[in-house]
Amino acid sequence: MTARRPAPPRGLFEDAFWRHLGEGRMCLQRCDDCSSVRYPAAPCCPRCGSEACTWAPVAGSGRVVSWTRFHRQYFAEMPPPYLVVSVALDEGPMVVGNLLGDQATDPAIGAPVRLRLQTVETAAGRLDLPQWELAAAEDTAKTEKR
Ligand SMILES: [Zn+2]
Repeated sequence: MTARRPAPPRGLFEDAFWRHLGEGRMCLQRCDDCSSVRYPAAPCCPRCGSEACTWAPVAGSGRVVSWTRFHRQYFAEMPPPYLVVSVALDEGPMVVGNLLGDQATDPAIGAPVRLRLQTVETAAGRLDLPQWELAAAEDTAKTEKR
């Protein structure tokens, strides 16, 4: 059974972000002039001001920068408790999502995580939601070798 979730709000420039997730990968805007990767999507580069960019896939790995556990129910589809993490992607930008797995254990700051797309039903239709899971030991070794 597909999980039901509230429809995430969409920014003005995020259609391509969600379309790529629907194709099974996370892509972010990479500036054609200075190569910086940005999130959320924007009409120009916050670093150099260029309007030229390309949607490029990211590795789908990063580290926990911060986290919180929700104990109060805000959405009917999301009974507490659940964890929300801020993740610094290997490419630089920070993203926010749920941490899947054990909801009772505090994640460590700096813990390596990897992207896992979760197909959910929302009032706006089916979509692939970017979620995070703690990386296994062999994934960590791979990440640290780079
Ligand atoms: Zn730039």
